[in-house]
Amino acid sequence: MKNIHNCAIIIAGASGDLAKRKLIPALDALYKQGKICNNIAVIGTGRSNFTNEQFRSSFAISDDFASHLHYYKNTAGIKQFIEALGQFSKIVIFLSLPPSAYAVAAKEFADERFEQQVSIVIEKPFGYDYASAKLLNSQLAEYYDESQILRIDHYLAKEAVQNIMVFRYGNTVFNPVWNSHYVESIQINAIEQLTIIERAGYFDKSGIIRDMVQNHLLQLLALLTMEAPVTLNPHDVKMQKICLLNSIKIEEIHRYQYDTYRGENGVDSESTTETFAEIRLSINNMRWAGIPVYIRTGKAVHRKGTEIGVRFKAPPKVLFNENGDIPANQIIFKIQPAEGIVLDIATKTPGADEQISPTYMNFCYNQNFTGNNPEAYQKLLFDALRGDHTLFVSAEETETAWKLFEGKLDRGDVVHYTTGKLPQSKFDIRWIDFDYYANFCA
Ligand code: NDP
Repeated sequence: MKNIHNCAIIIAGASGDLAKRKLIPALDALYKQGKICNNIAVIGTGRSNFTNEQFRSSFAISDDFASHLHYYKNTAGIKQFIEALGQFSKIVIFLSLPPSAYAVAAKEFADERFEQQVSIVIEKPFGYDYASAKLLNSQLAEYYDESQILRIDHYLAKEAVQNIMVFRYGNTVFNPVWNSHYVESIQINAIEQLTIIERAGYFDKSGIIRDMVQNHLLQLLALLTMEAPVTLNPHDVKMQKICLLNSIKIEEIHRYQYDTYRGENGVDSESTTETFAEIRLSINNMRWAGIPVYIRTGKAVHRKGTEIGVRFKAPPKVLFNENGDIPANQIIFKIQPAEGIVLDIATKTPGADEQISPTYMNFCYNQNFTGNNPEAYQKLLFDALRGDHTLFVSAEETETAWKLFEGKLDRGDVVHYTTGKLPQSKFDIRWIDFDYYANFCA
């Protein structure tokens, strides 16, 4: 893989939390690994006043990398500032700003009329609903070609997520059973212990469905269920994801709120924002018609974990299964914090009786692969610098995903649940016991 040279990286909103916790540390790590080297400049911008020294000292990074950091207040004239720093063949602008500032900032940078090739990287949330996502896309399209826009979904950069396609298409044994003939249901569980902490301002206006489902979890589902792309070319992969997203129908949503939420700093005392949601959806295509997909996601529950479960149909009630008590096979994709795959199987218990036990086979990243597993933002920034769009989301993908939720957001009652516990499910289904797999690969 080629290293990056002669590149200027502008971080708009460089005094913010994302720049401090993720972006600058990720660039520092890429620099230490030698992936970005020779004639690199990182320019922080914003409304705040910083000298270069103050800006550099606000990050815990090596002195060597810090010498490549510069600060420029506001945007007007940044082109000349960068020209004075050196000759760069490419400029990547990371909008690490509140979403309300994306369109204005994108225009301000376009007004600078850089001579070099420019890409613009945008963080989630990309829109608030279908109409706002469409508007933002059209505003960006006034100044940038789609090939210059990189919309981040950091879930896509996780190794365990990228492995979903390899698992499906690199292993002959799984591909034939990946359909409604063999699968009983698909269940996605994405939960965390943390409450909203300091993100109340953003979260209370969004809720967990906008924060997690429309973007990250639908992307996971698309990779899990889409048809095989013709090639790994980003265009071909996105085509299949869009096809899959277009066949989804949101059938049922239940919303919940943790009991201490309305007392959190910055939250409306009568807020009806959901902090937990359960969703049932269907995928109406030849492969998946009739197979329910359940999504369960939220904050302030008993543990952190993102897992996808594929539950297979039970074997027929013959032989060892006359009573129908052999557990169905399940495949669990563990996405975070521990990464791996677990396959549940039935096995004969040693001894004379024909007793069957549920056992498992597993693959864990931390046991099978040693060495550096780069953090998501390292991968995303490196790909943004290389101009590789594979891990970024297109305008059509975001709009298609938002469209699914038209008329379905912020609807219905919010039921309160005890902080630190999963709310009682309103779906009369057998949820996969995801807690059972929590310690696998840990
Ligand atoms: P912040 O709210 O900390 O804002 C970043 C910077 O933007 C601020 O320091 C400020 O810098 C500038 N800013 C604030 N308001 C405005 C405005 N109205 N117009 C122009 N500039 C403004 O954001 P974060 O750093 O937390 O996040 C950046 C983006 O990334 C957001 O869209 C967020 O939703 C997204 N994101 C953040 C995550 C995180 O972990 N923090 C995780 C996932 C996504 P100055 O005052 O110097 O101009």
